[in-house]
Amino acid sequence: MNKRIVAVRRLHADHLQQLEGKFHVDYFPHLDDDNLDEYHAALARAHGLIGGKLSVTPALLDGAPHLEVVATISVGYDNFPVDEMSRRGIVLCNTPDVLTETTADTGFALIMATARRVPELDRFVREGQWQAHVDEAQFGRDVHGKTLGMVGMGRIGAAVARRGALGFGMPVIYSNASPKPVLEAELGARSCSFEELLACADIVCVTVPLTDSTRHLIGADAFRQMKRSAIFVNIARGPVVDEAAMVTALQEGEIAGAGLDVFEQEPLPATSPLLGLPQVVLLPHIGSATHETRAAMAQLAVDNIVLALQGQAPPNGVNLGVLSMNSALY
Ligand code: NAP
Repeated sequence: MNKRIVAVRRLHADHLQQLEGKFHVDYFPHLDDDNLDEYHAALARAHGLIGGKLSVTPALLDGAPHLEVVATISVGYDNFPVDEMSRRGIVLCNTPDVLTETTADTGFALIMATARRVPELDRFVREGQWQAHVDEAQFGRDVHGKTLGMVGMGRIGAAVARRGALGFGMPVIYSNASPKPVLEAELGARSCSFEELLACADIVCVTVPLTDSTRHLIGADAFRQMKRSAIFVNIARGPVVDEAAMVTALQEGEIAGAGLDVFEQEPLPATSPLLGLPQVVLLPHIGSATHETRAAMAQLAVDNIVLALQGQAPPNGVNLGVLSMNSALY
């Protein structure tokens, strides 16, 4: 009997075909109140679940007693109860690496757009305010040659740092859970304390995962320690930053500007004070959102779920220890 999987959110026809060639697929391109019962009924029979922006809770797992694998189309997995999944013998797979460069591009786009005030000055032109030569009121801040402070120096952090050091001549300092001697040799990057980074960086860019130890890592104290000319960029996860403290820091001029791809609440509510701050550049969580990269992520998730349900080690398992625990499966 073919194994059954549930696929959530829109998948490319080619990826869907690959899955349908191997499994019985219950496909939910959109999830809403109208098909929620159908979705839960499909989960009750499913061996695998694949998709982006999945919401997996212990209660959902209770209703999916045959589940062996969950393949998320993302690198971040802060929204999954990983320990609970491991306890139940469910493998969680993610999609690292294929999105690293694209997300770093997004980070650098935010650095440039915020420092040089690109969206604000685009509006200036469109609204017919460009009536004479620009003056100091429209000036931005240099990026090249400025000190880039990376909070988190993993795959994406290193890719942002590489752009800064090699493309823009920026000295790079970083604060990370472990030192990165190879990157230090490659980029001349220097490891420093979190406090030193906040005090010395002209651009502070956050790329740590959201965990218990990074939730609200950047709060009121951190913003007070930054330079008043600092540009702050978050391409990690919204809750790594205390958003209310960031708004206060921006309103009171404790930092010069912020470029944000992620927020504590997404989509950003229409009441967010961030919307009224011209020195802030806002993106709708598009770190990896290019045609090429989203296709590569989906393909990797397909590979992950296919291999795992065929009893082989998937390329990207978050809790691969489950494989050795679960001898019935593998
Ligand atoms: P990664 O390679 O695992 O890098 C994370 C880095 O953070 C690691 O170097 C890790 O240190 C470090 N770290 C972890 N906890 C820390 C702490 N408490 N203090 C200091 N450093 C800490 O992950 P990645 O692929 O670069 O992705 C990073 C995050 O970016 C993801 O988790 C995701 O949330 C986010 N992301 C966002 C988007 C978007 O659309 N905006 C897209 C992709 C990813 P070690 O090296 O010592 O482990």
